[in-house]
Amino acid sequence: MNEISLNKKICRLCDAPSLQSFLDLGRMPIANAFLTSEQLKDTEFTFNLEVGFCEKCFIVQLIDMVEPNKLFHENYAYFSSISSVMDNHFADLANEINTEIFYDPTLSVIEIGSNDGILLSKLTGYALNTIGIEPSANVASAARKQGLNVISRFFDSSLAVELSEKYNAAQLVVGTNVLCHIPDLNELAKSLNIVLDDEGVFIFEDPYLLEIMHKLAYDQIYDEHYYYFSVTALQVLFARHGLRLFKVEPISVHGGSMRIYGCKLSSKRSTDESVVRQLAIEDEQGISNLSSYLVFADKVQQSRSSLVELLHKLKDEGKSLVGYAASSKGTVILNYCGINTDILDYVYDNTPSKQGLYTPGTHIPIVSTDNFSSDKPDYAFILAWNHMEEIVAKEEEFRNQGGKFVTHIPEARVV
Ligand SMILES: [Zn+2]
Repeated sequence: MNEISLNKKICRLCDAPSLQSFLDLGRMPIANAFLTSEQLKDTEFTFNLEVGFCEKCFIVQLIDMVEPNKLFHENYAYFSSISSVMDNHFADLANEINTEIFYDPTLSVIEIGSNDGILLSKLTGYALNTIGIEPSANVASAARKQGLNVISRFFDSSLAVELSEKYNAAQLVVGTNVLCHIPDLNELAKSLNIVLDDEGVFIFEDPYLLEIMHKLAYDQIYDEHYYYFSVTALQVLFARHGLRLFKVEPISVHGGSMRIYGCKLSSKRSTDESVVRQLAIEDEQGISNLSSYLVFADKVQQSRSSLVELLHKLKDEGKSLVGYAASSKGTVILNYCGINTDILDYVYDNTPSKQGLYTPGTHIPIVSTDNFSSDKPDYAFILAWNHMEEIVAKEEEFRNQGGKFVTHIPEARVV
């Protein structure tokens, strides 16, 4: 069993001295900070990637946080529109919002973390004002080029006041994969109260804690994700600020997420049975008990041992090994498991801006997937297990030539 410290820390959200560390993934670079060859000479920024559970408000959070401006800046590497899977996902979400949520075209729509405008562009036309908030300047400017109204700032109560003075109240505030990126969620809840119409709705989609625990997907834990949400914890958080959840919906994106729908406590919207059902499931799974998290941490350590053992065995047999997909998740796996160029010759990736760079911390060269099958590596370790089906389907030729993939979720194996 994982050793636990006797000194409980202060919870960032409820201020109680009830935060208990349960998993330490060690020193970690910024997951998205891919390096140029010149940067390999410099000392890399690292921090301790450690996760804790608050026994009072049930929120799971990083113990040490990296400042947001180190993460979401003008060189932010992730453009939402690059993935066709995500494009379809946002089209479905926009469609559902249009039919179920919108009730007054004179009211505003605000998207927090609007990235390159992939969702925002699908919501314009349904409201008088559609406003994107996106602190990363390069992705925000990609959205502006499409004629979208985007503000390059962090969403906080001072911006919320400015928005409420300039625009009509919001019938919708939406954010996908963004709530977990906001350090001060009390400030977020306050800001929601300022901009939302009395009958307005907020929708957030974030990686779901129970999925992470079931799949042993510890690679979802990295610098940008300050929090890992259960419905139980979100309900406690929002209730503290006069807000409530009225519907929840499990979705498959990012390896298993939860879409939550919320409104003001006083709203006429009735609470869907999905909320009650999910709370019961979480209760049954022990989401409010520290012991569940210690069991998870123990399994994560076993998962690392079995992966390292498998890769070393293949290497000892004289096989050539590479990585596939230079993802943030990959950075966590490689660093936590100590996998570097002794094991993987290259990491293949189809994002042009990452090619020619090196993986953070482990310094494995990143090369284009164009030559993947012709290079004929024996084994390719998939570093973005949530896209495994897509990758395996795309690289049919590699498998036809006798190449094999390795995955580690839920256990290390050759596929
Ligand atoms: Zn707390």
